[in-house]
Amino acid sequence: MKRFEYLEARTLRQAISLLVRHGENARIVAGSTDFLVRWRAGVWNPDYVVNIQRVAGLSRITYSSQNGLKIGALVTVRTLEQHPAVRRRYPGLAAAAASFAGVQVRNLATVGGNICNASPSGDTIPALLVFGSECRIVGPDGERWVALDKFFTGPGRTVLQTGELLAEIRVPAPAPNTGSHYIKHSPRGAMDIATVGVASLVSLSGKSGPCSEARIALGAVAPTPVRAYAAEDVLRGQDISEQLIQAAATAAQDGVTPIDDVRGTAAYRNEMVGVLTRRTLEQAYAAAAQGPLAFEEQRRLTIQAAF
Ligand SMILES: Cc1cc2nc3c(=O)[nH]c(=O)nc-3n(C[C@H](O)[C@H](O)[C@H](O)COP(=O)(O)OP(=O)(O)OC[C@H]3O[C@@H](n4cnc5c(N)ncnc54)[C@H](O)[C@@H]3O)c2cc1C
Repeated sequence: MKRFEYLEARTLRQAISLLVRHGENARIVAGSTDFLVRWRAGVWNPDYVVNIQRVAGLSRITYSSQNGLKIGALVTVRTLEQHPAVRRRYPGLAAAAASFAGVQVRNLATVGGNICNASPSGDTIPALLVFGSECRIVGPDGERWVALDKFFTGPGRTVLQTGELLAEIRVPAPAPNTGSHYIKHSPRGAMDIATVGVASLVSLSGKSGPCSEARIALGAVAPTPVRAYAAEDVLRGQDISEQLIQAAATAAQDGVTPIDDVRGTAAYRNEMVGVLTRRTLEQAYAAAAQGPLAFEEQRRLTIQAAF
């Protein structure tokens, strides 16, 4: 393991100035759950490590019906999982957080770290994508906003430039009569990254009206987490039925070309995209039509679905 100089920032300005000064030779750490694994394996060998965990103001999470959810980049996955507004208004996001590693890792892992690590299988990402999230990036030239679906440029790669860091994620408030769900499939069931992860969101115009909005996002089946736009088009504007959900699931399956790896073959992943898209849409539709299912009920259904 290569030795590095450890630096700590207390403000965003300090963090940016350290990142600008040390450029490509520096790496930010937050919870360090990805960093320590990669550093020990010799994959990441920075000369400088800039710890941002004590930067003021980045650990806050707030909700208002006007502005939606504001998630500071340092909010942990555990805080996200337990936050009352997330459970109530964004159950798909709460389910994604609950499916993530074990409690100890969730207590350290940050939402910003999960996004910036840019793994195709990052669990919070598909759920954040279906809610139309945006990222506040700060750097030497000020701040800029980037839609989450434009944030990733490849596996482990993002639009962040030298000196920039992710400060906050904004998640708009869902429309009335909206349901959402996330299911992660991994052979080990716990403490494993996703072989396939699917998030779905369904909004209805009125409790029994047609589908006014549908969003589906897939993890671990492409170089970055992706939206299944063709599958969403199958649902938008239509009265939802079992057949329509199946047609959307088939469209999602047809739209991806995953790869083989130690966690599953391409063919298996492809099949699972269809299965999980159908299941998450069924759950999201039920929640949109009947009012939000209590989080624990959703969780019980997820556990049942996994066996
Ligand atoms: C045992 C174990 C189990 C895991 N299980 C899961 C799982 O089930 N699902 C899952 O998705 N992941 C899992 N992970 C991966 C990891 O925990 C997550 O990706 C986590 O969210 C990373 O957050 P962190 O704060 O620890 O990031 P760090 O390790 O501190 O950083 C990760 C990367 O993001 C960059 N970064 C961090 N914060 C910022 C920021 N604000 N701005 C710019 N760049 C930043 C760092 O430079 C680094 O490149 C697991 C890891 C371990 C060790």
